[in-house]
Amino acid sequence: MGFSEIIGHQRPLEILRLALGNGRLHHAYLFVGPEGVGKRAVALALAKASHCDETANEFCGRCAACARIQNGNHPDVRLVEILEGKKEISIKQVREIEKELNFRSFSGKRKIAIIDPATSMNLSAQNALLKTLEEPPQDSVLILIAPNAGTLLPTLRSRCLRISFGPLARDEVARYLMSKEGINQDDASLRAALSMGSLGAAIRFDKDELLEKRRSWAALLLSLKDGDYRGAIEAAEAIASNKEESLRFLEWTETWYRDLLVHAATENSEEMVNVDMLTEIGSQSAKGNFERMLASFAQTARAAGRIQRNLNRRMVLESLFFKVVGER
Ligand SMILES: [Zn+2]
Repeated sequence: MGFSEIIGHQRPLEILRLALGNGRLHHAYLFVGPEGVGKRAVALALAKASHCDETANEFCGRCAACARIQNGNHPDVRLVEILEGKKEISIKQVREIEKELNFRSFSGKRKIAIIDPATSMNLSAQNALLKTLEEPPQDSVLILIAPNAGTLLPTLRSRCLRISFGPLARDEVARYLMSKEGINQDDASLRAALSMGSLGAAIRFDKDELLEKRRSWAALLLSLKDGDYRGAIEAAEAIASNKEESLRFLEWTETWYRDLLVHAATENSEEMVNVDMLTEIGSQSAKGNFERMLASFAQTARAAGRIQRNLNRRMVLESLFFKVVGER
């Protein structure tokens, strides 16, 4: 084991390893990036490298310290998550971390607390954490992990050193799936493309269920013809009934329009997500109007944001589909 076995994230790792080597780790980090790309793995690697019995500023993954960190029972390293049956990270959990970070270290090395996802702290929990950040305990490192920083208090964000994690490269994901998960090459390439750089998603998703869903979503989009407002209204009704499903649909629809645009611009399938639907993408893109595809793509992203903010789903989807059938 060691840093070199972590997939991707060269830049974040460089920054962190340099700080680790110089003994100048920041007292608080904010790791921001998509779900499932390995932010927590990097946070745990940093903790292991701080405590490993075998090497300095690196980790072996085998010693007692590394094993205890991996299993979540090292006395100086604490991972704070949403407790089972709960919806958020509570102020009580935050106060416990504060207390623990102020205790003397058991090992004599730095104390580390990882909060994942930090965005699930409610406002009072965030305010409580702010106090810890204002007077950071000596030799302690706090790592906040979040898919985006948007719902964190600005005062909290500004006290953390922000490190951005991007999606993983497609071939990195595919290679991992083949070598570590024993998945065959075709399946691995498709999963890598569909997961859009999230290793977690590539491993987790139920491929058959997703393929089935995509087929019906694609059929729905392909059924929308120019000027067919009635069809647009019906499509909105069909998708709107469930919030999670609406968001999944929009997440996929964004990849669909993106693929149409990529096809129109370059025809380069390496850049496309829906690599098993190239025929449909080709014919749709060829007869589509570039401006309108672009408008549909932009509107899809906006629609997802509106549904996340709990605006009326049917109306949001209707206005998207009106764009698709050609409203100006
Ligand atoms: Zn070790």
